[in-house]
Amino acid sequence: MSTVLVLVHHDDGVIRKPSLELLTLARRLGEPAAVVHGDPGGALIDALGRHGVTTVYAIAPPEPAAYRPVVEALALAELATRTAPVAVLISAGPSGTEVAARLAVKLDAGIVTDAVQVTAGADGPVATQSVFAGTWLVEGRVRRGTPVITVRPNAVTPEPAAAPVTPAVEQVALTEPVPAATPRVVASRAKAATGRPDLTEATVVVAGGRGVGSAEGFALIERLADALGGAVGASRAATDLTWCPHELQIGQTGKTVAPQLYLAGGISGAIQHRAGMQGSRTIVAINKDPKAPIFQIADFGVVGDLHAVLPALIDEIDKRKG
Ligand SMILES: Cc1cc2nc3c(=O)[nH]c(=O)nc-3n(C[C@H](O)[C@H](O)[C@H](O)COP(=O)(O)OP(=O)(O)OC[C@H]3O[C@@H](n4cnc5c(N)ncnc54)[C@H](O)[C@@H]3O)c2cc1C
Repeated sequence: MSTVLVLVHHDDGVIRKPSLELLTLARRLGEPAAVVHGDPGGALIDALGRHGVTTVYAIAPPEPAAYRPVVEALALAELATRTAPVAVLISAGPSGTEVAARLAVKLDAGIVTDAVQVTAGADGPVATQSVFAGTWLVEGRVRRGTPVITVRPNAVTPEPAAAPVTPAVEQVALTEPVPAATPRVVASRAKAATGRPDLTEATVVVAGGRGVGSAEGFALIERLADALGGAVGASRAATDLTWCPHELQIGQTGKTVAPQLYLAGGISGAIQHRAGMQGSRTIVAINKDPKAPIFQIADFGVVGDLHAVLPALIDEIDKRKG
């Protein structure tokens, strides 16, 4: 069976959800082989086996300060040349996109970015992209070299393999040096934890817009997100008004999310906002204007003042949680 190389990220041995999604897709295309940075512990290897990984390639970083996307791209290029995989799957996002771009250049191969689905085709994997602000789905296939595909988080539901396997583990030392012009990591520090999931990976996103009315009003959005165990997002209007940090902005010039549930409070649904959330599985909108464009794409809508609707919703959720 053909190998599918998957770049796997983990937190202390716990596979990150987007990587589990890639492994789920990979099993539909062939036999997944995981490429991980650093020494994989036993727990990580076992977890990879439960997700059908037959080989774990552990990249030995050439030096601790080496810029990770460059190291990952070099390692994937060496492995792709050696194993001739049917595809290389990488999670979409700033780092994944950089790895994929570097890899495709190195392999002189075609690349598809931000796929929302990948299926096996007669002539190789077929990747689906959501384009033009989520109004069209396009299916594409790489026609030259090893297909390099980045996949949007939440594109599929992660599932373990039908039967676990015991992966072989191979240490990979780069044969090519990291180019001298590559950036070096001079310092890093963990972001202050919010206790909420990452916005682009969350299965539930609660987003607030100008209709929230104030920074204090935005606390309602945060309370609802916490009640649902979700991430907090925002429209550009809300971030421009400094009611919440810019890193929470969703849309054309912000982040792209595709959660199972997207709850928009006081967001009109401008095309630039929709570009970043239209791929969400279920969209719920709360807006006092029944003509707000967000209702055109919402699966469920509440016409009303969010200052009345959201507290009632939070109370109801709390009641049901007991
Ligand atoms: C080049 C470019 C890029 C852009 N990129 C982005 C982007 O990435 N992301 C983004 O979001 N925008 C982006 N924008 C801005 C975008 O065009 C809109 O201006 C923005 O999305 C509007 O945000 P909003 O829906 O929060 O505000 P508004 O459009 O002002 O909508 C507020 C909504 O809240 C409702 N409302 C008011 N009070 C209440 C209440 N008490 N209860 C319930 N509902 C209430 C109103 O009826 C209204 O529908 C971009 C614009 C440009 C030109």
